[in-house]
Amino acid sequence: MQVIIHKGSHEIGGTCIQISSGKTTILLDVGLPLSADSRPVDVSRLAADAVLISHSHRDHFGLMASLPPGTPIYMGKLGRRLIDATRVFLREERYALDFHEFSAWKPTTIGAFTITPYLVDHSAADAYAFLIEAEGKRLFYSGDLRSHGRKGVLFENLVKRPIRDIDMLFLEGTMLHRNNDLFPDEKSVEDMILETIQRQKNISFLLSSSQNIDRIVSTYLACKNAGKLLVIDVYTAWVLEQLLQVSQSTPNMNWPAMRVFATHSQDERLKANPEYFGDFRKRLYRRGVKREELHATPESFLYFGKMSSFRLIDEFKNTAAPVNVIYSQWLRYLDGNHSDYFGSDRVSACRRDPAVNFVYAHTSGHAPVEDLERLAAALNPRKLVPIHTEHGEDFSKIFANVVTLNDGQVFVLA
Ligand SMILES: [Zn+2]
Ligand SMILES: [Zn+2]
Repeated sequence: MQVIIHKGSHEIGGTCIQISSGKTTILLDVGLPLSADSRPVDVSRLAADAVLISHSHRDHFGLMASLPPGTPIYMGKLGRRLIDATRVFLREERYALDFHEFSAWKPTTIGAFTITPYLVDHSAADAYAFLIEAEGKRLFYSGDLRSHGRKGVLFENLVKRPIRDIDMLFLEGTMLHRNNDLFPDEKSVEDMILETIQRQKNISFLLSSSQNIDRIVSTYLACKNAGKLLVIDVYTAWVLEQLLQVSQSTPNMNWPAMRVFATHSQDERLKANPEYFGDFRKRLYRRGVKREELHATPESFLYFGKMSSFRLIDEFKNTAAPVNVIYSQWLRYLDGNHSDYFGSDRVSACRRDPAVNFVYAHTSGHAPVEDLERLAAALNPRKLVPIHTEHGEDFSKIFANVVTLNDGQVFVLA
């Protein structure tokens, strides 16, 4: 068996791992690099029998459209729907690629390989790790994962009932030099949101990603406990509509404490794609909240927004009662080095604005080192290969049997 990490051995994002056995070649993820100075892999020259996408984050799927035409792409059903949703709202064409669905824990045969997707806990819904078997060998790719989200039991299951006889483990190491101490889990984030909003005299904004479903759930639960209404935009409402395909227990616009605030530009997307959205637009307006209603009793609402919500935030600033801005994503987006991230400078300025009560509440999508250690000890692989990390060279200080590969290096697993 032959293994090549095309990208991801020494960086977070842009992951692409090639595995070949006999006549079969597969790729694990075809990600777009997160860093502007990292060149994407030229996947158009990678002839693969199948590509497996671990989850719907761009640093794992972003190069799909550049694959040789007709390349079969395997991913989770919900993940694919979430990618479609984003593209429609970004005014991009939906991908017309050769998609195949896999299901959690159900083995699929692709040429020489048997592949079993393992549903994992991550800040993207429908995220998977993969067990890959061929030639009597077993490889396990962690994808992006953690134990401290709302599906943490999936991680604990991997630790409690580990897969035996793993020859090679590709283990993500995003958090190698980071920690999660301030907010160790999703519950601690929920608690901070609740504490912030329960006595609010003005509206609260929570800035996060609409695809971070755990965060929407945390926000919803805090709102429910504080007696506030959770306002989402049209895109977020549509994302939650996709979740209904797999779960009835995720908050969605039909729930009593939820309202939808529709902007003109998002409504334009609905009108432009009637066959894609079906009767969603009609149903949406029954759940709508108007700007005037938000201004009449701002203290009744929490708006789930994003970095670009700064204009709406500005509308509610007054000196009598500060607006709560709960910043609920990676803090380093505000460090002044992300000018390409629209709105980051304006949100960063909120920290010094007397009309704003700026609150940070976020937990990582990735496992801290202690959890990675537990997982590695349980899986006890013959070889442990760092992936999705800026600190592969430090793995051997923490884990046993580390084999550090470089991007492009051909490794023969005998
Ligand atoms: Zn990632
Ligand atoms: Zn991810």
